[in-house]
Amino acid sequence: MRARAEDLRRDGRKLAVVPTMGALHEGHLTLLRAARARADIVILTLFVNPTQFGPKEDLSKYPRDEAGDLAKARSCGIDLAFCPDVSAMYPAGAQTFVEVRELQQPMCGASRPGHFAGVATIVTKLFHLTMPHLAVFGEKDYQQLAIIRRMVRDLDFGIEIVSVPIVREHDGLALSSRNAYLSGEQRPAALALSRGLAAAEARFRAGERDAAALIAAARAPLEAEPLVRIDYVELRDATELTAVAQITRPVVLALAAFVGTTRLIDNRVLASA
Ligand code: AMP
Repeated sequence: MRARAEDLRRDGRKLAVVPTMGALHEGHLTLLRAARARADIVILTLFVNPTQFGPKEDLSKYPRDEAGDLAKARSCGIDLAFCPDVSAMYPAGAQTFVEVRELQQPMCGASRPGHFAGVATIVTKLFHLTMPHLAVFGEKDYQQLAIIRRMVRDLDFGIEIVSVPIVREHDGLALSSRNAYLSGEQRPAALALSRGLAAAEARFRAGERDAAALIAAARAPLEAEPLVRIDYVELRDATELTAVAQITRPVVLALAAFVGTTRLIDNRVLASA
């Protein structure tokens, strides 16, 4: 991969990478199209990264469909797909990790210890191997995006980070590879996540600036849904992810909830017009 990237760079090509864990859906394809619009060479990476899964998480049952993923990605006009084995990415004795100390702590970091060190480390490795000029990430994983932006700045990667808004189903559910786990009964219950965010945003647009009131508005649809168990609902500074009591600058309202055993996330940035 590195040799190909070096050749392409030597030829003056602009390289974009889109890191994914596969099970591609329209959200991923939107990232690939954003990359296609900005670069000469689009590199898709497919790697279910074990170091970002906790011991009780869904690593072994995470959906995998490499052939289907490559067919979908080809329809978006990708140039290269990098699909390494776990043993190639983590040789025996690997013990070096990248951590973004503060941004990795709250929200998903609090419920998934070690998750973001796994993410920052694999993204670092994929950047070193694909040598891109730019990389595209989704705003669906808001904290991940904030962490990668900070890591790239702090460690001088010299890679432009492009973000793409959340792609949703027609009824509002954010697309996720994990939606495939939902049963027929759970699928409508999962709408409580986007409904909670919409309810809070409506209160914000109506002038509410108190974080506790907005969080309560977001929690209500989730608490009313018996198949849903809240992991967290938080309102934080949009860049620093620090807690906010009264909104005076852009914030992110982020939540995670279990629908059955499936953990889903969603978020919305609230900013005055
Ligand atoms: P994943 O395969 O879940 O690790 O996601 C790979 C990339 O796709 C990440 O940058 C995600 O933020 C992005 N992504 C996943 N779902 C969506 C979505 N519904 N809308 C936009 N981007 C997404």
